[in-house]
Amino acid sequence: MTDFENVATHRGVGGSRGWVVAPIHTLGDPAPRDRYILVADDLTPADTAGLDLALVAGFCTAGGGPTSHTVQVAHNLGIPAVVAAGPLVLTVVSGTMCALDGDGGLLHAGLHGGDLRSARDRENEHAQRDRLRRERALAVGPVAGGVTLSTTLVKPAQAAEVARSAASGIGLLATELLFLGREGEITVEEAHFRAYCDLARAVGDAEITVRTLDIGGDKPMPALNLPQEDNSFLGVRGLRLALARPEDLLIPQLRALYRAAAGGAHLRIMFPMVTSVEEFIRASQIAEGIRSELGAPRVPLGVMVEVPACALTIDLFAEQVDFLSIGTNDLSQYLLATSRTNPDLAHDMDPLHVAVNRTVAQVADAAAAAGVPVTACGGLAASPVGAVVLASLGISGLTVTMAAIPAVIEALSRLDDGARRMIRHQALTTGGTGHLTEHVSARLAL
Ligand code: PEP
Ligand code: MG
Repeated sequence: MTDFENVATHRGVGGSRGWVVAPIHTLGDPAPRDRYILVADDLTPADTAGLDLALVAGFCTAGGGPTSHTVQVAHNLGIPAVVAAGPLVLTVVSGTMCALDGDGGLLHAGLHGGDLRSARDRENEHAQRDRLRRERALAVGPVAGGVTLSTTLVKPAQAAEVARSAASGIGLLATELLFLGREGEITVEEAHFRAYCDLARAVGDAEITVRTLDIGGDKPMPALNLPQEDNSFLGVRGLRLALARPEDLLIPQLRALYRAAAGGAHLRIMFPMVTSVEEFIRASQIAEGIRSELGAPRVPLGVMVEVPACALTIDLFAEQVDFLSIGTNDLSQYLLATSRTNPDLAHDMDPLHVAVNRTVAQVADAAAAAGVPVTACGGLAASPVGAVVLASLGISGLTVTMAAIPAVIEALSRLDDGARRMIRHQALTTGGTGHLTEHVSARLAL
């Protein structure tokens, strides 16, 4: 069912929130000069990061999944995205006027007359609501409902926006694009060093948590000439890859980070896709060697909790690390054995599944017992319902996209102790995105 009478509605899954109205442009057709909604079979994370936001209002893909890296990039850019809409969406003719509903996961195609007017009214209402939320979030500041909000950043060029947002700092700087976007003869170390120093200048005293390279899975990097893998999500990815190629990947990045820290940058270093404590110890020994060679200050070292083995041994990790951050996208994928990128499973991906909630609660409890700070990031943290559930499960810091901060602050501001207890109980017994969305929305009037 849609609110429109004479349109064809393509149903996918909401990837990144928002509502925009514009003609569509199918990738491969001659490029229009005015703002459009991009329609494509699929997009890589790097394609998405390179979109010209002066022209691309949002996108809809036939394939993909709601927690894919492509969607994470869309979240970070603040544009709506619908994925897994199926191949029929590719038959909509370029130039057709459409409304893209990133919350509902719909593309309404062929709007005119009264339908077009009401779609535009809705676009204006969304814009107005977002403006008000942004103002209120700035007034509340980075702590809401006892939870501290930091932001993710995929493009260092967006750093200036961080200082203008309600975020406490950068909780996850993804560095894949720094490796991809290197120019000319400049070395990896030098390119990274300059980028970290520029970022530190842009955000002032705020803390920047830098995630070391997380390549593999659905984030290819052709320049590395990595061998083709049958199952790249279970292959040489994240810290595994960095430890397999320390000379060209891990060491230059760590040297750049410690040089920036020596220059006054307020950094933390976070390793992705860690499976065993031994991996973390190897990485931290390399880091410590570089630090002492450079005479740099100590920098907190932490891991992302994304692999079930890491979650199950969290007490052992808590003895070694300075901080933890739960990556809800990967943790859901691996716990539920549900690919982040398979469009046929897009509706099955349930980051609020009771198994995920229980794992999050166990990690939060173990971290609290050991006195280690634990935050959560990924798509779940950036949705108001997900943020409220994570807070109720004991997570005291969330890293979300800049676009999501106002709505997350608004939701967390409504969370009192009674609601927290009820939501925690529901999350740990029943769980499920559908059930919890209904429960949380009713309880907090979201
Ligand atoms: C995650 O897995 O939740 C996460 C934040 O990392 P990415 O989405 O980049 O894999
Ligand atoms: Mg991840």
